[in-house]
Amino acid sequence: MQKILPTSIVGSLPKPSWLAQPETLWSPWKLRNGELAEGQQDALRIAVQEQRGSGIDIVSDGEQTRQHFVTTFIEHLGGVDFEQRETIRIRDRYNANVPTVVGEVSREKPVFVEDARFLRQQTDGPIKWALPGPMTMVDTLYDRHYRSREKLAWEFATILNQEARELEAVGVDIIQFDEPAFNVFFDELQDWGVAMLERAAEGLRAETAVHICYGYGIKANTEWKATLGPEWRQYEESLPFLQRSTLDIVSLECHRSRVPLDLIELVRGKKVMLGAIDVASEAIETPEEVADTLRNALAFVDADKLLPSTNCGMAPLPRHVARGKMSALSAGADIVRKQLAAAS
Ligand SMILES: [Zn+2]
Repeated sequence: MQKILPTSIVGSLPKPSWLAQPETLWSPWKLRNGELAEGQQDALRIAVQEQRGSGIDIVSDGEQTRQHFVTTFIEHLGGVDFEQRETIRIRDRYNANVPTVVGEVSREKPVFVEDARFLRQQTDGPIKWALPGPMTMVDTLYDRHYRSREKLAWEFATILNQEARELEAVGVDIIQFDEPAFNVFFDELQDWGVAMLERAAEGLRAETAVHICYGYGIKANTEWKATLGPEWRQYEESLPFLQRSTLDIVSLECHRSRVPLDLIELVRGKKVMLGAIDVASEAIETPEEVADTLRNALAFVDADKLLPSTNCGMAPLPRHVARGKMSALSAGADIVRKQLAAAS
């Protein structure tokens, strides 16, 4: 029988200080060429070991081979010029100097497939791989070629589907698309955002997930969250569409957030990767706190569809904090598992 409440992290983990500057986004690599590739593999091995050691059931790569969850994928594609840069507003929240789409975008070779194959060799348990979602990718670029966010998103969705099929072929069990933009661009998500995700997930036998969050605990996000009022109802816009979509799993930020948990009812029938760890604070949750969040969510999601997880990636946190949070997640899930077993 499969274990209920299988735990996982959303994606990133802090990198070792010999690989990249800790507690920094877009942190430059400290190694070069062959040494970098070897260092990234060593870091990936450690990330797996730390997840397994903390009792995490569905293991990820901790994004140890990526500088950033969106940028690194795009760097591998044709049609995007990283030298030509323009300043745009990202997720309508902060200005960033971004690369330019100068021609047809294309995936000339696999991006993460070899890394995923390496992850597959590290564990016999289920593994999950995260990719950026089409809308979030579009939102990090200046587009001089298509001049249409929808057209560019379609091209990205096609590319993501190619990558996802190859990830599946090397043994990835769950393919996750990160779409924080779904908490911002509601008209677009309804017009084409969900359709693009379905295109990216088309024909896959692996389970497919979409992660929608309020972002890392960086200043721009914390300030934005402060403007969202006493109740965060952004999920109300996306969840009804995702409930009707082909995606299997929806990953949501729920711990110490102001998201009313009853919104989860809107995706009834889907699996929910429930964020029960706050990534915007270095305070490590107690197992009881995690268990509380999970128990509260069980009013709106069936136990066999609940996947305890983190609110978002943990890349910017100190390593010991990330480890403590993973252990708290496992221990909290274990409390609820035992309660459910005792009650049945
Ligand atoms: Zn996130």
